[in-house]
Amino acid sequence: MNEKIIPEIANLSATRYILKKFKLRASKRLGQNFLIDKNVVNEIVLAAEIEDGENILEIGPGIGTLTQGLLKAGAHVTAVELDKKLPQVLAETLSGYKNFRLIQGDILKVDINEIMNNQPFKVVANLPYYITTQIILTLLEKNLPITKIVTMVQREVAERMIATPENLIAKNESAKTYGALSVAVQFYTEPRIAFDVPPTSFLPNPDVMSSVIVCDVRKNVAVDVKDEKLFFKIVRGAFGQRRKNLLNSLLGAGFEREKISDALKKSSIDPNRRAENLSLKNFADIANNYNY
Ligand code: SAM
Repeated sequence: MNEKIIPEIANLSATRYILKKFKLRASKRLGQNFLIDKNVVNEIVLAAEIEDGENILEIGPGIGTLTQGLLKAGAHVTAVELDKKLPQVLAETLSGYKNFRLIQGDILKVDINEIMNNQPFKVVANLPYYITTQIILTLLEKNLPITKIVTMVQREVAERMIATPENLIAKNESAKTYGALSVAVQFYTEPRIAFDVPPTSFLPNPDVMSSVIVCDVRKNVAVDVKDEKLFFKIVRGAFGQRRKNLLNSLLGAGFEREKISDALKKSSIDPNRRAENLSLKNFADIANNYNY
């Protein structure tokens, strides 16, 4: 099987054929839902705005469906795949392409800078849903030279990534949407939902709607903070106990009463407010006014 035999992996019959040939079953545990819709692959590739020879990190190439689209667009793809059964499949499905490198391993454990040769790169992926949030936070918090992230995620996760306190108030939505993930994504990137993808675009069909989200990494983070670690400790602590007010949540997260009260006062933030009503600037003010 090579490029000539399977010109397009992204359809139901080619995917079934490959799975059957290699005696594979999509693993639920590894979040395997293979794309079978060529339009979705094309749209993802378009959203990634790939230039010839550009470095792309793909997380979880599966049987090579999205990878094929990226390679056809001229990308140099480095892919990290956890499933030990897939390297032999990819060796065949992508055998016609030169600019593909596979690393068998866990994306949460590999040294991403090393595998990307310390060069700038974009991330393009149809992510395994059981660890989407961890992967996104890992990519963001490691200070990697990423310029853009284009990923398929559950729609609900995409909504959390773009949620702001303003749209919570405007849409009167459940206060669960805006949280630590929203703050982290918006601190480092400008995110937007590009389009939604129905379960029928995958084999097997996932139980949920999906969305492709595009995150343009900011040259400078959204708000000035003196200590990013402290900023995120405050954000996580504030959202840790949603039913409590800000002061009690932060006390519960281990901050000292006197110091945190002082930081809130200096930031002109009422300790009775709740985390979901605070903007990135509010969190930055608290962190910058915290004397430790
Ligand atoms: N890219 C393919 C596609 O679009 O059809 C497959 C996407 S599937 C939703 C997610 C892929 O991520 C699977 O191939 C799965 O084996 C892989 N995966 C799961 N956990 C992973 C991890 N921790 N590190 C790297 N890959 C992982």
